[in-house]
Amino acid sequence: MILRIFSNQKILTIGFFCISVILAISIYFGLQVSELAKSEMVKSFALARASEVQGVVSHHFETDKAGKPIVGDDYRVMKHHLEEDASDSDLAELRIWDADGTTILFSTDQTEVGNQAPITPERQHTMHGSEPHLSFVDVDPDDDRSRFNRLLEVYLPLSVDGERVGIYELYLRTDRIEAPVRRLEAILIVVIVAIVASMSFIGLAALSLARRNEELIALSAKLGREADTDGVTGLFNHRHFHAWLDGQLERGHRYGEELSLLMLDIDRFKDINDTHGHKLGDMALKELAAAIGRVFRSIDYAARYGGDEFVVALPATGAEAAIAAAERLRQEVATIELQNLVSGEHIGMTISCGVADFPAGADDRDGLIGKADAALLDAKRRGRDQVIYHKPSRTA
Ligand code: GH3
Ligand code: MG
Repeated sequence: MILRIFSNQKILTIGFFCISVILAISIYFGLQVSELAKSEMVKSFALARASEVQGVVSHHFETDKAGKPIVGDDYRVMKHHLEEDASDSDLAELRIWDADGTTILFSTDQTEVGNQAPITPERQHTMHGSEPHLSFVDVDPDDDRSRFNRLLEVYLPLSVDGERVGIYELYLRTDRIEAPVRRLEAILIVVIVAIVASMSFIGLAALSLARRNEELIALSAKLGREADTDGVTGLFNHRHFHAWLDGQLERGHRYGEELSLLMLDIDRFKDINDTHGHKLGDMALKELAAAIGRVFRSIDYAARYGGDEFVVALPATGAEAAIAAAERLRQEVATIELQNLVSGEHIGMTISCGVADFPAGADDRDGLIGKADAALLDAKRRGRDQVIYHKPSRTA
């Protein structure tokens, strides 16, 4: 029992620990997945947006003017088209640098057009490579752009008619871009997954516990049966017989029910053992138990009292019927033929039997057993292979 409680608690503790770990890991991965999904979404959106901008720009960026700041009407037309295209204002800033990456040819902030600035590693990288440069920037609160919480910085080479004529510098507002999976959704999904996983775990644990408990119940029942059973014959043992008889006599006293007790013993069993070996002796004990099973009713009770001695108790049965039943058993046993497998010899066996009755012969357990035992001894003394009943000498 203690072992059972201990192991149940242990399984529950392990279960809760696992559930907590699963939950924590799933929330962590849920957040990671939502972040990754969002940043990938933003990047692909940014590239699509950048290529749109590139379409507008290269349309208005004529080769003969390449390398020169865009001013006047050209500036206004391009700005107009950009704003038209970027109507949802995800474009925070756009700057176009010349092929050296040092002069601003176009900017959404007109005051910047024509300005010069030293080349930065991003521009340098974009000028010489073919891959666009993308990175998220958290805007400094002092910066003008601080009204946009987070921007995606994109650098792209600007080519016109296959010739690289400059660099774009785009800033896109990431808050305008919807993530495919929102953080709350991701957490909800992983929590549901975690709950399902946990429930499955708990279900499995409960199943294995139930199975284990069933095994333990079956085992304790088996142990209980074994404690009451004689290993050779499968009949009840001496210990069980005493307890059973006590209960039965109590009933007898209360309801005035009769009971007869037969005590029987194999005749010269020692000789069978000595001549043919213990194995054959055991066979004789089993054959006797089988004969008892054949002769008596299912409500009758049989136990191996010890050695080659057996008891049979017949509830609600008086002496006369008990003597008749004992006689039937004696005759049945006399028909048993055991065979010595080594010598091939056939061996017969007989029993002696003493009968006592309750309440006429004795009205308590020890008295009843004593009477049956005395009758059995008498049967042995009178030459064995017989049934003896001592008629009660009491006068009413
Ligand atoms: P009696 O007719 O007077 O009963 O003679 P007996 O030889 O049967 O004498 P007793 O009842 O004293 O002999 C009991 C023998 O039963 C002695 C013992 O070795 C044997 N015995 C007891 N338990 C077992 C058992 O489990 N298996 C076997 N093979 N023999 C057993
Ligand atoms: Mg004997």
